[in-house]
Amino acid sequence: MSQHEHVHVAVIGSGFGGLGAAVRLRREGITGFVVLERAGSVGGTWRDNSYPGCACDVPSHLYSFSFAPNPDWPRTFSGQRHIRAYLERIADTFGLRPHLRLNHEVLTVRWDNGALRWEIETSRGTFSATMVVSATGALSDPRIPEIPGLAGFPGKVFHSARWDHHYDLRGKRVAVIGTGASAIQVVPAIQPAVAKLTLFQRTPPWVMPRTDRAISAVERRLHRTLPFTGVLRRQLLWAIRESQVQAFTRRPAEPGLVEALAKAHMARAVKDPALRARLTPSYRIGCKRILLSSTYYPALVRPNVELVASGLSEVRGSTLVAADGTETEADAVIFGTGFHVTDMPIAERVVGADGITLAEAWKDGMESLRGATAAGFPNWMTVVGPNTGLGNSSMILMIEAQLNYLADCLRQLDVLGGRVALAARPSAVHAWNRRVRERMKRTVWNTGGCTSWYLDHNGRNTTIWPGTTTEFRRATRVVDLAEYEVIRPGGPVDERDGSKEAVR
Ligand code: NAP
Repeated sequence: MSQHEHVHVAVIGSGFGGLGAAVRLRREGITGFVVLERAGSVGGTWRDNSYPGCACDVPSHLYSFSFAPNPDWPRTFSGQRHIRAYLERIADTFGLRPHLRLNHEVLTVRWDNGALRWEIETSRGTFSATMVVSATGALSDPRIPEIPGLAGFPGKVFHSARWDHHYDLRGKRVAVIGTGASAIQVVPAIQPAVAKLTLFQRTPPWVMPRTDRAISAVERRLHRTLPFTGVLRRQLLWAIRESQVQAFTRRPAEPGLVEALAKAHMARAVKDPALRARLTPSYRIGCKRILLSSTYYPALVRPNVELVASGLSEVRGSTLVAADGTETEADAVIFGTGFHVTDMPIAERVVGADGITLAEAWKDGMESLRGATAAGFPNWMTVVGPNTGLGNSSMILMIEAQLNYLADCLRQLDVLGGRVALAARPSAVHAWNRRVRERMKRTVWNTGGCTSWYLDHNGRNTTIWPGTTTEFRRATRVVDLAEYEVIRPGGPVDERDGSKEAVR
């Protein structure tokens, strides 16, 4: 049934970003909002990634909201099932269910210059909203590379983020494509069940041991009865990661010791020097995400596993052909080939004040002001926007910083009163990005000698924040109105361009 609803705020997505925004809106006393979710339940990437072995590489006491501590995390690094359940509980505990519009896929979002609001078309009706918070996440749309002949493969094909649980892998010849964070969890989880596992590795990752363990009943009781102990634990985990940031941003040539530890970790499981050579990265550690696993290398030396140290380049019937010419017969192909990150899919569906899509505005690379707003897109905010990603810590810290910015933005709109919009000044956006790019120059992500999903098609790093979470939090504490144009019906009232130096 078709419907139309006007709301103050429309949030797109119900992962950590969207649910976090919803909680924050309620805490700000805003109840006129909806959360538009294309799937049938909440959880975002933690709902979609249900592949065997899926778990988080950031300790749970840090990878959770500061305002919703969970004393009962069962393991130091929680599995997908527990994280997803945590997000379901967030929806219940904070009374978000009435705001959820599940199975509502956002098709277009169009700014109305006259009415100063967004018109939103979804698969289940239309909405209008004063403000849109886009929390679609960076890891939501799986990317399968265009491989010639793939359409003619007679067996089963799926992506790690769209796992087909009805397909029985037992006794099958399975090819896994990719060696990122997802694939290295899939490999040890399915290796015992399959007849043969062939892993297509284009670029070897750096892999460190994973120090996962069960959190004891005593610890859990302590966190339940004395909540400050859970806070201390979180603070400690945060401080350790915060102190590591400089190694990524300022001293990328120094982590030789860490590389030696990673090599020793590999050598413990892989005795064959020829295989070790093929598994050893030729770029600095940290350039791509550092992976954590204590089961990946042991799985690779099992007799039913073969490593093809070359990317998949063609499929001929049931034969997979690697770039080096190696041929492999397979019954199933599992792509662990990542996501559309720098070409954020929602951007194609958003039309701003100048009549162009966000994707067109970002054709030379994503650019925002303070990771949130974009020139030409008034009252629009992205959570987990450009250059808000982290190389070594919890994204939830960045999301919460962005929610502070969102809350202040809504407060300022309220103070300005009536029908009004805030539009990021192009000069402020440029100043912010100049500074981000300047700081990016020395980082390991740009100088470490690798390509990664952090870089866009121009080789620009538009995903990672080149600083500490503290710096980002400081930069997003309040909205500086000098960086924005105030638009009222009939056009902007304030033509000042007051932004001098956008990064504080
Ligand atoms: P990813 O890091 O983008 O990895 C994609 C992999 O596919 C890379 O190894 C890439 O090789 C490879 N690839 C692409 N085309 C290929 C081809 N034709 N042949 C062979 N290999 C090919 O994706 P992901 O593993 O899904 O991880 C994405 C992000 O999700 C992670 O970085 C992390 O932020 C998050 N994640 C976290 C966890 C965790 O916390 N444990 C788990 C899963 C995901 P190249 O390196 O050569 O490009």
